[in-house]
Amino acid sequence: MATPGNERSKIEHSVISLANNSDNYRARIEALGGRLLQKLQTTLVLEEILSLFAEELRQLVNFHIFEYRHGSHHFVIDQKQTARHELDYKLTLRDADLGTLKLRRSYRFKEAEMEAVESLLGSLVYPLRNATLYREAQLAALTDSLTGAANKRALDYQMQRDLSFANRYQHPLTFLLIDIDHFKLINDTHGHAAGDAVLKAVVERINRCCRDSDTVFRLGGEEFGVILANASLTDAWVIAERMRQAVSDKPFAFGKVSIPVTISLGCANYHPNESGNELIARADAALYQAKRNGRNQTRIAQGDQPHADLPAEGAISA
Ligand code: GH3
Ligand code: MG
Ligand code: MG
Repeated sequence: MATPGNERSKIEHSVISLANNSDNYRARIEALGGRLLQKLQTTLVLEEILSLFAEELRQLVNFHIFEYRHGSHHFVIDQKQTARHELDYKLTLRDADLGTLKLRRSYRFKEAEMEAVESLLGSLVYPLRNATLYREAQLAALTDSLTGAANKRALDYQMQRDLSFANRYQHPLTFLLIDIDHFKLINDTHGHAAGDAVLKAVVERINRCCRDSDTVFRLGGEEFGVILANASLTDAWVIAERMRQAVSDKPFAFGKVSIPVTISLGCANYHPNESGNELIARADAALYQAKRNGRNQTRIAQGDQPHADLPAEGAISA
């Protein structure tokens, strides 16, 4: 990317030439718009579309900050300059919300530049709509529709990524396996809809105990997993116990009934070069011990060394 100084002189040049020859400037916008549309149609990846758009737009309009937001998605190019002047666009296509785009810089935007931005946005909206639909479909394929938790497929992807990161940088990583106690009884006593509501509410409570960067995965039925990246066994133990208490402390309200719920947890600390499946299997064995020992408790996996401030191997109970 050119330096802002160079860009500025280029823009001023193009604005001056607009005053002298507006037909010529319009022709440039049109040519760029056509080329841009072709380029944008080569990808469905949102970040690539936004980068391509920003790159082409810069040929006509200089900016120091380019910021796009759509739902939880945030894309930003920031040249870390004070940028008091702003152009702000709400993007829609046939009532569909496509997010907001902001351009900022330290000096005023000229009328001709605003026209150029608006014209080029015409080439952005369709590719943007396709990319947001594609992104939503990808997200849906990795999300459990009942609870909003990530699904087993998402766990497989993330486990692979996080384990290679933990190996490369020798960071600790702990996996928690969580299972609702006597969930069948909840279904049998209060009905399947109440069971569904409990599943959703348990995920919410577990989520509140994690860091923003941690993901809760639904692995099936009433079983959940959490990868605690960069968390030691002691950190993970504290989080696991916080989750257990968050669920057991207060019964769940379903209509007029109040449903007490508890969970059991298995906690396994990653051993270098262990596979994701081996790590999950050790957490599963610890969870089995928690169930056998009376439920509503956290157990640490065989082979993990609790620190001095934690009770000895596998002997932790509520
Ligand atoms: P334990 O304490 O040993 O884990 O006992 P449990 O009753 O929780 O375990 P079990 O595996 O016997 O029962 C799990 C139940 O979860 C059985 C199944 O019908 C129910 N279940 C699985 N998926 C769903 C779901 O999406 N919604 C509801 N409401 N129930 C579900
Ligand atoms: Mg269960
Ligand atoms: Mg189960």
